[in-house]
Amino acid sequence: MDINTKGLKKNAFRVTKERGLTASRIRVPGGHLEAKYLTVIQNIAQNYGNGSIHITVRQGFEIPGIRFEDMPKVNELLQPVIEGLNITQPETGKGYSSSGTRNISACVGNRVCPYACYDTTGFAKRIEKDVFPHDLHFKIALTGCPNDCAKVRMHDFGIMGMTEPEYHKERCISCGACVKACKKKSVGALEMVNYKVERNHEKCIGCGECVIQCPTRAWTRSKEKYYRLTLLGRTGKKNPRLGEDFIKWVDEDSIRKVIRNTYAYVENYIDQDAPGRKEHIGYIVDRTGFEEYKKWALKEVVLSDKAVVAATVYWKGISYT
Ligand code: SF4
Ligand code: SF4
Ligand code: SF4
Repeated sequence: MDINTKGLKKNAFRVTKERGLTASRIRVPGGHLEAKYLTVIQNIAQNYGNGSIHITVRQGFEIPGIRFEDMPKVNELLQPVIEGLNITQPETGKGYSSSGTRNISACVGNRVCPYACYDTTGFAKRIEKDVFPHDLHFKIALTGCPNDCAKVRMHDFGIMGMTEPEYHKERCISCGACVKACKKKSVGALEMVNYKVERNHEKCIGCGECVIQCPTRAWTRSKEKYYRLTLLGRTGKKNPRLGEDFIKWVDEDSIRKVIRNTYAYVENYIDQDAPGRKEHIGYIVDRTGFEEYKKWALKEVVLSDKAVVAATVYWKGISYT
């Protein structure tokens, strides 16, 4: 069977090492899905694949061993999963219309984890709506707190939850647990002064450890949600590197606008001769300079007074050459 590999990949099937066989890639934004969809995936794997399922590093599923001629049937069967996860799809029953922008992955967030500053899956799904389907090769990940279980600094955009701890001094019994926890487990932003706790806002990374450790609820989380947005981490053969801080104490709407603006920037500057029109954004920023990127990224972004934007960003990483 003649096969158009570009079309196959765009439809979220993989070119595999086995002749005539492909693998279906299922995206799960935020890494969270209702258990009932697993039976759909099981059915496809057992009846159209080789009976196994790979759980991908980006929190999707990959079903190997599918014959090319069965792709339309697999797409039909996937429809309830695609609809159930509210994934934008131009044509019903035809599977995914793109695979460039990767699944938006996230740690488990505040649906489960006590450290989480927000609902990571909910935010991931909202970003998914902003950016998918799209052919540009972007990787975005969210993590609920600075523990960064989702390894967001290895992504083009990393979103890390922050909380502003609020001190209610009338409830404080001066036990020192928060000061100790911040020093031992975080950045040492707290100090006991005259039996009351003082916080160094410049130092505080909004991890919420003090809130968790306080026995009297003298520290509580701010109602407002804040985030640290990191930029342009990457893996790969040329020059892997960790994402660096771009904006701290930033809000959700601003992050979503920065991401959308970045798609426009890449559309404008991508190397038209790049193989498969794929060029990692980090290399584009290396070419145009960070100042040009920043101009595009912050276009019409209305930041709050609390947000702190990096004056400039340097990346280094590992070079194999
Ligand atoms: S990153 Fe934080 S919120 Fe997410 S799972 Fe880890 S500890 Fe929990
Ligand atoms: S939020 Fe984290 S860094 Fe900030 S004061 Fe509390 S423990 Fe320290
Ligand atoms: S842990 Fe709570 S009660 Fe103890 S010193 Fe800190 S704020 Fe006060």
